[in-house]
Amino acid sequence: MAERLAQTTVEQLAEWDKQYFLHPTTSPKAHVEQGPKLIFSDGDGIYVNDVNGNEYIDGISMLWNVNLGHGQQELAEAAKEQMAKLAFSSSFVSYSNEPAIRLAEKLASLAPGDLNAVFYTSGGSESNDTAFKLARFYWRMKGKPEKTKIIALERSYHGVTIAAQTATNVPAFHQFSGSKIPGIFHARPHRVDCERGEAHEHGCGCIRDLIEREGADTIAAVILEPVQGSGGVYIPPDGYLEAVRQLCDEHNILMIADEVICGFGRTGKMFGVENWGVVPDLMTIAKGITSGYAQLGGVLIRQHIRDALVQYEDVLAHGFTYSGHPTACAVGLKNIEILERDNLIDHVRKMEQELKKGFRYLEDRHSIVTKTRAIGLLAGFELYADRDSETPFDPSVKAGLTFVEECFKRKLILRALRANEGYNIIAVSPPLTISEEEMEEMIHIMDDALQAFKKNL
Ligand code: PMP
Repeated sequence: MAERLAQTTVEQLAEWDKQYFLHPTTSPKAHVEQGPKLIFSDGDGIYVNDVNGNEYIDGISMLWNVNLGHGQQELAEAAKEQMAKLAFSSSFVSYSNEPAIRLAEKLASLAPGDLNAVFYTSGGSESNDTAFKLARFYWRMKGKPEKTKIIALERSYHGVTIAAQTATNVPAFHQFSGSKIPGIFHARPHRVDCERGEAHEHGCGCIRDLIEREGADTIAAVILEPVQGSGGVYIPPDGYLEAVRQLCDEHNILMIADEVICGFGRTGKMFGVENWGVVPDLMTIAKGITSGYAQLGGVLIRQHIRDALVQYEDVLAHGFTYSGHPTACAVGLKNIEILERDNLIDHVRKMEQELKKGFRYLEDRHSIVTKTRAIGLLAGFELYADRDSETPFDPSVKAGLTFVEECFKRKLILRALRANEGYNIIAVSPPLTISEEEMEEMIHIMDDALQAFKKNL
């Protein structure tokens, strides 16, 4: 439990926060008026504490990243040990370091198929921008410089750097800056028969349509999240990823899987694509690789792309100061070691069953709960005024946000997603280390919060 800070200190911190700290995806006006919602101080497993000594359950692993839970001492030790030895060294101009090399070898052994090389970044957005550049560069190396366009899916989230943000299809992120790069298009997701070319009706807006409209000769890659996260926790129907893979092969287009959320055990497999036996050409990773204990991301690259890239004699003019950061890589290695040592991926599949049991309990008790879904511990459900007729709540109810607030009052942190204007999708993704008892505790708080939500309607 956190040591409580003196009240004057907490007030001072809140004041400085309002004055000096511009927060991401936060209403600046509301923040300046109300100050920080919580000032976190420490944590243990699925629990986090604030500076006032309140304990919360982290039901969403913060930003889908704290997969091994809070206060994991071995990760802290790995960082400390590496920092004390060599906190940072450059990976530019052929300099290297041991943790980055060892992690690259480990990733090659873990990743499906022949995804055997990695380009390191410091997060998900950088990874997706890098993947787009690598895809374009690859086609240039192959003598097809006109293959530059990218197809992404509606409801996708790929980050906020300008290219990744253009691929992101959550409208609020475009309203912010109005800037987009040209040549990125969005298709309607999860139309298995369309992508397979069966019962294909022209104009359905699927990936196949966009390829036909734009011309395969102009398209570098298709990017998709194996399971869409921020866009609303959408699990694709069986056959979809396989069909997209086939479609890409058919048209000589690279397939990029954004595994930023799905990677490193979240879906009950090491990588999300393994649920469907698909090997993408490029795979972007971040978040769970270090459980958030250090900033690290990367793009995994298949052998044929790597082989084409290594023909290039000039400098590969791309790289971040923190590409191959020794401390971040040491944490990544330890994170993977713990995932494997503690059989956490098996544990995730067991906890998926517990979570689904919990969801059924909530559905039985609350007729407003529906469309529950979980793959591993990537899960969610929706709130409807009438689930049978799928009548949404009036937007003024702000159903998701209000429910999440009821959970918050009961010391459970969850997140409402703005997949449609109602914010009615609730994301549930606790740390992978959650126990059966902790899962029950979380479900009971949701039960209580639903009760209160209905009472206040
Ligand atoms: N891709 C996906 C699927 C994500 O969920 C996110 C972050 N939520 C990103 C990319 C962007 O990652 P980052 O915030 O580390 O840049």
